[in-house]
Amino acid sequence: MNWMLYERMELQRELSKLKAAKKERNDKESKQSNEIASSSNKDDMDMLEMSLGMLRCSVCKDRFKSVAITRCFHLFCKECIDENLRNRHRKCPACGEKFGQDDVRNIFFTH
Ligand SMILES: [Zn+2]
Ligand SMILES: [Zn+2]
Repeated sequence: MNWMLYERMELQRELSKLKAAKKERNDKESKQSNEIASSSNKDDMDMLEMSLGMLRCSVCKDRFKSVAITRCFHLFCKECIDENLRNRHRKCPACGEKFGQDDVRNIFFTH
């Protein structure tokens, strides 16, 4: 057996063993730090999403609430209420209470 070749093979085996061990450690570490990061971030994101969700118009689920129907005080975005008035539907999308143009008021969020 060629010495050089044998040595190289041994070296290679050692190297791949080291690599495998390193990889395993990295996987574990990154997994742990991911778990910690994601669990705290997730709570924040949940809170944020919940708060934003409450501010979002429940009809289009896209724009933020900007008007109140003063009959029932449900909040929607102006565009959806305008559409509601235009097509003469004129019922609150949440509770079905009838309303007219005069029952719609702008709301204002403050910082
Ligand atoms: Zn809307
Ligand atoms: Zn309503």
